[in-house]
Amino acid sequence: MSNPTGDSLRDLAQSTQEFYRRFDVQPELENCIQNFQEEAREVIDAARQGSSQEHIAEEAADVFVTAIGICYAAGVGIDQLIEQVYAVIGKNDAKTHETHVFHEGKIRRRSSIA
Ligand SMILES: [Mg+2]
Repeated sequence: MSNPTGDSLRDLAQSTQEFYRRFDVQPELENCIQNFQEEAREVIDAARQGSSQEHIAEEAADVFVTAIGICYAAGVGIDQLIEQVYAVIGKNDAKTHETHVFHEGKIRRRSSIA
């Protein structure tokens, strides 16, 4: 890829964009969704089957690439995606035991638990 930044998400997004360009492909949403679903299934299967950590990580990276493909197909740019990643990090970092609790397999807002 050209000009790696050392920022893995930005580099992956840029590489994905260049990959589509190299094959002269304009990503289409339904194709990207199908690819994402296939890759999501592969990482789930790898984890459930007790595959090596290397293989599970490889499949997870495929999920990231195909999620980026969905973003491109839907017109979401690299900077907007990265901005949202940091928004999620900020939201997660703000969650505490006072605001959230692990309930039925998920960390949920305390106020949403009946
Ligand atoms: Mg895969």
